[in-house]
Amino acid sequence: MPTGFDSMERDSKNRSFDSPYLRVRAGDIAVIRFITDINDMEWGYFHEVKTRNRLGDREFTDDVWCKMQDEERCECCESTDPKARKVKVRMFFNIFVFGILHKEQDQDGKWQQVNYAGSRYWYEKMEQFKVLKTGPGSQGNIREKIKAWAKRAANADFPDGTLINKMYDWTRQGSGLDTIYDLILRDGAVKEIPQAAKDMIPTLLPLSAYMKGEKEEAATPEETVEAVTKQVDDLFL
Ligand SMILES: [Zn+2]
Repeated sequence: MPTGFDSMERDSKNRSFDSPYLRVRAGDIAVIRFITDINDMEWGYFHEVKTRNRLGDREFTDDVWCKMQDEERCECCESTDPKARKVKVRMFFNIFVFGILHKEQDQDGKWQQVNYAGSRYWYEKMEQFKVLKTGPGSQGNIREKIKAWAKRAANADFPDGTLINKMYDWTRQGSGLDTIYDLILRDGAVKEIPQAAKDMIPTLLPLSAYMKGEKEEAATPEETVEAVTKQVDDLFL
């Protein structure tokens, strides 16, 4: 049994840190590069399942893989509740996150204050692999945006387009039902992924592990953190 407030606070910090998914708050900007290219994007159908945290004070929705896709019985599809039977599409990409520009300063004062696009932000350096999970957006705007950026980056090596040779901002505006995500091509020099991280790309979990909720049993991308965080970040210097 854990005792004391220190261990409790450590635990809560670790848990939010340990999510394999990219999470951004309203107004924040994640600076990313794609590891998964346009044609390797994986997608599937998911049920939205409402759950509560262990303390019961917060409700959140979980995306649960529809097992019909494995030709198995799916509890959600067999539900009498039409809401539970509903499925939605989710796309998955492996990405490398250089850092997140936050609208709000952190309590510990570790994030560096920077100016970007005429606004003040606090930069949380991350240099971690994450999984970008997103829906197609309303009227498919996210899906079309990703396709359009890829097409625009086409070159001799990737005549049909590519996502992996540019940097992007993943942004979020609003919260709840009014949340709008966007992917924006980042101007300026393309920053290299640190070599220590590049070496770990072949060891990343297959996206299907995240999609089917098997990720707990396998190694997590957070193991890369120690290896790469020592590098100097010149993005905003
Ligand atoms: Zn189902």
